[in-house]
Amino acid sequence: MADISSESSSSTAVDAPPPQLPSSAPLPHVSDPDLVEAGGGEKVVELKMSWSGKTFNLSVPDQDRVYDLKILIWSLTSVPIDRVKLIGLTSSRNPPEENAVIASLNLKSGKKFMMLGTSVENSFKDPTRLQQAEVVDDLDVDYTQAKIPPHLEPRNIRKIKETTAGMQLDLINPPRPGKKLLVLDLDYTIVDTKPLIDGSLPSSECARPALHEFLELVYPHYDLVIWSQTSWRWLESKLVELGMLGDESRNYKISFVVDRRPMFTIFTEREGQPYKRLQLLWNKFPQFSAANTVHIDDLSRNFALNPREGLKIKAFKGAGTNAAAADRELVKLGAYLIRLAGLGDFREMDHGKDWPKWRKQT
Ligand SMILES: [Mg+2]
Repeated sequence: MADISSESSSSTAVDAPPPQLPSSAPLPHVSDPDLVEAGGGEKVVELKMSWSGKTFNLSVPDQDRVYDLKILIWSLTSVPIDRVKLIGLTSSRNPPEENAVIASLNLKSGKKFMMLGTSVENSFKDPTRLQQAEVVDDLDVDYTQAKIPPHLEPRNIRKIKETTAGMQLDLINPPRPGKKLLVLDLDYTIVDTKPLIDGSLPSSECARPALHEFLELVYPHYDLVIWSQTSWRWLESKLVELGMLGDESRNYKISFVVDRRPMFTIFTEREGQPYKRLQLLWNKFPQFSAANTVHIDDLSRNFALNPREGLKIKAFKGAGTNAAAADRELVKLGAYLIRLAGLGDFREMDHGKDWPKWRKQT
């Protein structure tokens, strides 16, 4: 951690690990009306954090959560958020909850506190990965009961702006004119993540049956995007092992890959969950919209703000067993997506109803 200066300052708290903080990329055109009012009514609290003999000046929007503060600290120190311990931030003996709103802590500007935690160099094993795969990925959340809809919370609105501004997509194969957009989740949608992480099965055996055939079938109609709740480094190596990247013999190409960086966490009363918002992709590629985008995921919470574009697929688990080998979801899905591609506007179909019917009939 030799590259951290003794006085650091940042007011940019994106949900991003250290190496990928926003560049000076220009703010793209934002068409979502929710975003126009962003940032209203938020104040910034200045905090002084000491860690490892250094002092950091932190500018923290007061509608951020303690979780966001930990993300900011992670970006400055490389201490993973689950290892960040905040000492003396509040007078309470117990550390503040991650979902606590900063404003609720009544912090005076200039407040000093100490952070304890050990940084990790970027190890190949993503430290956020195991926890997410084992805990978060098995949860699904219904946001329809939230007191304030997630898309109206000032903090979320600001996060989308920041995320869009800072999002850097590494194009692997540029989108082709006239194609539709297929956004595919990775974990438990096209692979069984558990053996992929713990290495108990070779990567190729973790793939959902008929994965490559499925991708080859839809590729003439759709540009392919993988959006996974993981870090790019891990994701890239797994996609190569799965034969989805870098294998010239395949009759399909992945357009680009989105990792966890542009995902951000929204909060209910009790907990926070990261989710995916298609508007971020549409801002980058205006040829895509609700009319020609479909998003396949095993967790409906990822459709929280794009419910019409979401198609919830049964989770794929138990790779290596006979039951998993008999899984035919991707075969059925491929045929469904071909049918969908023939429509002038994807919203003519209702995936919530049409997909379950289609599964039963085929
Ligand atoms: Mg998943």
